[in-house]
Amino acid sequence: MSSTIAFIGLGHMGGPMAQNLIKAGHTLTVFDLVPAALQAATDAGARAAASAAEAVAGADVVVSMLPASRHVEGLYLGDEGLLATIAQGTLVLECSTIAPASARKVSQAAAQRGIRMIDAPVSGGTGGAIAGTLTFIVGGADADLAAAMPYLQAMGKNIFHAGAAGAGQVAKICNNMLLGIQMAGTAEALALGVANGLDPKTLSDIIAKSSGRNWATELYNPWPGVMEGVPAAKDYDGGFGVDLMLKDLGLAAEASMQARATTPLGELARNLYALHSTQGHGQLDFSSILKLYHQPPRH
Ligand code: NAD
Repeated sequence: MSSTIAFIGLGHMGGPMAQNLIKAGHTLTVFDLVPAALQAATDAGARAAASAAEAVAGADVVVSMLPASRHVEGLYLGDEGLLATIAQGTLVLECSTIAPASARKVSQAAAQRGIRMIDAPVSGGTGGAIAGTLTFIVGGADADLAAAMPYLQAMGKNIFHAGAAGAGQVAKICNNMLLGIQMAGTAEALALGVANGLDPKTLSDIIAKSSGRNWATELYNPWPGVMEGVPAAKDYDGGFGVDLMLKDLGLAAEASMQARATTPLGELARNLYALHSTQGHGQLDFSSILKLYHQPPRH
């Protein structure tokens, strides 16, 4: 069944996700604040709208993929917000990684207007977004997830129902806290090996088949020259930005304080990424955390 979908936010993730919905036969009207992102989507067959409100007019489904809580609340809430415009019964898939409290707030406001909303943050990186193999981690009602399934399946491979509204965000934040810790740990281990005379590729091959194995060593090695097609191979361009990882580690810290949980490694990782960001690396891929441990020799 072909649907009319409004897609808001066409960045590193949203751009390729929108393209996969087009490939699945849906009609897309798209909006982003950045003209180049809008242009790439129209080149792929979408219709560009002049505003988010124009994009959602007549849509059966709305998908949003924005940076952080404030962007999502700004888009949907308030007198000028999209919830005042979107037709009753419309299905909204909010895919950004944001605070669980923010997701619940927007979802409750949507429900009051008869709009169905799920939080559906993703895992799998830009590679997964392009390949259509993302993992979706959903919070919301069973019936709304069932209705969203065909669209999620056009963009992803694994779809999990974490619980009620906001639960998708909680699960996503736990995952990303672990990812941030793991990437910093991987960079630290590789830098230790190299400082002691090992070749980074040899050490990576060893770890990838030993008990230190993890997502970074298998698919996203932070050391330049070890793996092709990853951000480390192109000066840490593209991928998942340091400032986005920092945001997610901040969300983990908030969730930790609210639940009086203990997350010392998450806090340490948050501080490492914050330091790295203040050194001017906020826009690089998060695997550039390696730079905190190792500077390439100058010739
Ligand atoms: P990005 O910064 O590349 O893209 C965000 C896009 O949203 C930008 O193009 C921006 O112009 C647009 N935007 C912001 N406010 C807008 C508004 N009001 N109206 C229309 N467009 C607006 O970010 P990204 O890497 O695509 O990440 C998006 C979300 O996905 C974030 O919450 C991030 O944490 C999450 N995420 C990213 C990755 C990754 O690998 N990049 C992986 C998993 C989850």
